[in-house]
Amino acid sequence: MKKKPFKTESKRILDLMINSIYTHKEIFLRELISNASDAMDKLYFKSLTEGGLDINRRDFEIFIEANKDIRTLTIKDNGIGMTKDELENNLGTIAKSGTMDFRQENQDSLRKPKTDSQEEDEVTEETAGAAENAEAAEKAAGASGEAEKSAGSDNAQEQPDIEVIGQFGVGFYSAFMVSKRITVISKAYGSSEAWRWQSEGADGYGIEPFEKEDWGTTIILEIKENQGEEDFDQYLEQYKIQEIVKKYSDYIRYPIRMEVTKSRPKAKAEGEEQDDQAMPEYESYQEIETLNSMVPLWRRNKNEVSAEEYEGFYMEKFYDYEKPLTYMHISAEGTVSYNGILYIPAHAPYNYYSKEYEKGLQLYANGVLIMEKCADLLPDCFSFVKGLVDSPDLSLNISREMLQQDRQVKAIAKSLEKRIKSELLKLQKDNREKYEGFFKDFGLQIKFGIYNSFGADKEKLQDLLLYHSLKEDKMVTLAEYKEKMAENQEAIYYACGGSVSRIRQLPQTELVLDKGYDILALTDDVDEFAIKILREYDGKAIKSVSDKDLNLESNEEKEAAKEQAEAHKDLFAAMKEALGDKVKEVRLSKRLKSHPVCLTSDGPLSLEMEKVLNSMPTDQQVKADRVLEINSSHPIFEALTKLEGKEPEKLKTYAFLLYNQALLIEGLTIEDPAAFANAICQLME
Ligand code: ADP
Repeated sequence: MKKKPFKTESKRILDLMINSIYTHKEIFLRELISNASDAMDKLYFKSLTEGGLDINRRDFEIFIEANKDIRTLTIKDNGIGMTKDELENNLGTIAKSGTMDFRQENQDSLRKPKTDSQEEDEVTEETAGAAENAEAAEKAAGASGEAEKSAGSDNAQEQPDIEVIGQFGVGFYSAFMVSKRITVISKAYGSSEAWRWQSEGADGYGIEPFEKEDWGTTIILEIKENQGEEDFDQYLEQYKIQEIVKKYSDYIRYPIRMEVTKSRPKAKAEGEEQDDQAMPEYESYQEIETLNSMVPLWRRNKNEVSAEEYEGFYMEKFYDYEKPLTYMHISAEGTVSYNGILYIPAHAPYNYYSKEYEKGLQLYANGVLIMEKCADLLPDCFSFVKGLVDSPDLSLNISREMLQQDRQVKAIAKSLEKRIKSELLKLQKDNREKYEGFFKDFGLQIKFGIYNSFGADKEKLQDLLLYHSLKEDKMVTLAEYKEKMAENQEAIYYACGGSVSRIRQLPQTELVLDKGYDILALTDDVDEFAIKILREYDGKAIKSVSDKDLNLESNEEKEAAKEQAEAHKDLFAAMKEALGDKVKEVRLSKRLKSHPVCLTSDGPLSLEMEKVLNSMPTDQQVKADRVLEINSSHPIFEALTKLEGKEPEKLKTYAFLLYNQALLIEGLTIEDPAAFANAICQLME
């Protein structure tokens, strides 16, 4: 058979699989069963929606067969099957979607951990050996063939990046963890041709016409020889197969059947005497047994489902390598009835904050999967939620367009949204550490939610927010901030910057903190945009420490400041003139304590927003109206007053230096660094 190479990207994943030292190799069976089940779902769905198909749900089954003599494990289904093209596209390449781009960017984490060339040789040798034994295995059952000796590659490798594997859902490929060679024989429903796809892993795959009577897919794994500590024999053992199926695939809604050997007391031959004392004699016999209970998890009673089952179900169904952070099993009755299981992942998928990410829940109509990702069930702010919903009230023939209008779907979505929010609030209250973990990964989405809805969703989302408190040096909610506010404190204060430590150093924060008021440190790009939309929380205004009117002074202080500003009017005017249109105004500061100057802004655009907007890939640059504020209690102020009217050139230099200093403190770039350096040197000379 002529071999085709795998696409490079696929090959890399394959390498990871083949040489995997992943400890849970047994999950390969779960993956293959899950694919088989999906294939039957698809065919069943087709029969329901297209009509005229001779399909009976009761006929669907997955059949497993192990043959120790030729070391094959066969998984057979009568699902929708695959055409030649589908075999090529589905099994010749991994992840047809944009995940590829990600892989390009992350080549390092995906590349097979380094092996020396010798090891690689051994692996090829081993697979080549398996090829000789191919024909026998093909027939899967009955035929016998001699199991060849494995060259045995000892993989002293680092743990491959399971994280990456997990996120791609490389289901089928996981079978290479236990197989020397995989043969897939498939016939698509309604097609007259069957095809055989075959691969020994790394060196590619072959595909050719084949004979197969019924539609569906048969997968034959030629199980590896034991290697050192690795026991591959177990995957050919009846008890082990039963155990794996029970453990991971119990809920699969089609029977998973296997011929098992059982034993029973031997029947007495006629005329033989009954001796009650004697040990009964046993005989073994073969029987086809259904290994799984077939009740979908979401239809089971909550009390009967263990956390492991919920978690395992999630990891398998939604391709996560990590357990979910939390889950909700919902049984709702009322205007619309539904069962559902929702999960909040413990980490954001790699593409979560990109356009590639598709939100949605699996949607079942009375146990039949009708949509893999129903986006209408989830609001954008909770797009991270995974799970499924099953409702007897939905129609099978519902189309994507109709779904959006569907009253039932809307009602379900509304009820889910409430559940998700209350679950998150509960987590926030009962398990802060977990919640903070959640917020680290998904908090950005909540903030986008507030921003994107122009505040329409603010009531819904504001209590889910966490910000770093400068005073307490930990994450707090707005409610917690408010509760600890000082008696005379008028507003909730925040400051923006690249990091908490940068914010701490902002001159504007000093006086506010000094008053005993806490400050929320905002470090995400979206933060200030979102918080400006919030505007207030529970009756308290939310204000930036750079706000024009902080209103922190007493009436006397205000009076005194007014007088001082008046007295030094000319100084500020001279400085403004020196700086030209770099600033809109130079004025006396009401917020500085030990720092000489700071930069704030007038108008709706803050300096932080300017930074964020200008970092976006557009040609348009925005500029906030800058205001240079001067601290009249700082010694430099006295120096300035002395220069005013006497040494205009020096005053210009001072203004220039102070302005640049303020830029630096604010985390902005200096427009002319060389001139700044020269000016300093001149002073030092
Ligand atoms: P995933 O299940 O995540 O899509 P897999 O690598 O396990 O990834 O499978 C790739 C694709 O191959 C499936 O999406 C499906 O279209 C097809 N496939 C796999 N197994 C079967 C099967 N038993 N019957 C029909 N199609 C299958």
